[in-house]
Amino acid sequence: MDGRVQDERRPVLRVEEALEQILATVRVLESEQVPILEALGRVLAEEVTADRDIPPLPNSAMDGYAIRAADVTQAPARLRVIGEAPAGRLCPLEVGPGTAVRIMTGAPIPAGADTVVPFEHTRLDGEWVEVLRETRSGTNVREAGEDVRAGQVVLSPGHVLRPQEIGMLAALGRIEVAVVRRPRVAILATGDEVVPPWETPGPGQIRDANSYTVAAQVRQYGGIPLLLGVARDEEALIREGVRRALAEQADLIVTSGGVSIGDFDLVKQVLAAEGEMRFWSLSMKPGRPMAFGVVGGVPLVGLPGNPVSAMIATELFVRPALLKMQGFTRWPWPEVRARLADPILRKDGRRHYLRVQLRETPTGWEATLTGDQGSGILYSLVQADGLAVIPEDVDHLPAGAEVRVLLLRELRC
Ligand code: AMP
Ligand code: MG
Repeated sequence: MDGRVQDERRPVLRVEEALEQILATVRVLESEQVPILEALGRVLAEEVTADRDIPPLPNSAMDGYAIRAADVTQAPARLRVIGEAPAGRLCPLEVGPGTAVRIMTGAPIPAGADTVVPFEHTRLDGEWVEVLRETRSGTNVREAGEDVRAGQVVLSPGHVLRPQEIGMLAALGRIEVAVVRRPRVAILATGDEVVPPWETPGPGQIRDANSYTVAAQVRQYGGIPLLLGVARDEEALIREGVRRALAEQADLIVTSGGVSIGDFDLVKQVLAAEGEMRFWSLSMKPGRPMAFGVVGGVPLVGLPGNPVSAMIATELFVRPALLKMQGFTRWPWPEVRARLADPILRKDGRRHYLRVQLRETPTGWEATLTGDQGSGILYSLVQADGLAVIPEDVDHLPAGAEVRVLLLRELRC
């Protein structure tokens, strides 16, 4: 079947509809065991229970003296110091009436004691300690299992692991944990004019930027990029690239170039011949031509070749797919609201993503266009802090109008 014929029949899809189709196709991947530090930022794929009480025994919350509260019903009270309870082992001493044991934070409470008086509330006098304040039984004693109890479910599948969860896993004696595995993403650039970055381009040739932008995005969003290089505009070569991606056990294939209506735009033909193609024209700018389908059971996103379009389409469509595959259930984009410094004129019914720089003012963020918004101007993305989203039904906006800006950098402020 000729993809070009289908192209014209396809309705123009809105961004949400395209994303819905992609998300309906990609599946959450299986789990893998990884060392706990490798699990940071990933989605837990098992139930984690406590193997023992934490803390294992009642212990001191302060450096001070372990005493019997009944001995200090009135302050000051004099107690005889009979020894010391260090952290890390059981104290063989028993605190009888009228005695005290010097104790360190975290040390198990010696038998007989029920309370710890901090050093600040005592005065030492030879082998005697004077307790200067009254206290209540149980003060400064941490109970066994007050953090977590043996058998307690501490973490459930789906939990996103932050530093505190990694620490908890360590506390529970887990050195490895099951998380959803990272997607393997095969990246294939296409185009007779495109050469690898280490080659000197001949007349009319350009270096392959897209493979590297996309690989960096894949890595940023938790995937493993597999760079397949550049295929020339020949159906057999693109077909061969797709087969290589399948042989590499890619979970997702991302191509760039070759999806518009030009004579050499072959990715969609290959998709149609080798797999199931659902391709569309998207109602967005930049990035109108974009193909999506499935080959050999693997979803394939055919990005447009223009570097700006390729990057924005990856953010909008590949990022959520990667996050879903890794077990995340939400993927909101960090965004701010900002006032436009420039008016926006002559829209065309598509959703526009404008590259902007952000400036903080006393009354909020202000967004200034980075200049030429052409989809080949990669440097405008280098300059951009974010993408201002101008909805389909908005035809023009005056300067000062408020817009959503999707952030392309962390704004540390
Ligand atoms: P295409 O979608 O193949 O028609 O390509 C659209 C534009 O993007 C053309 O100007 C290409 O030269 C350019 N282009 C395609 N692939 C790449 C790439 N990998 N890196 C940089 N520019 C590219
Ligand atoms: Mg091309």
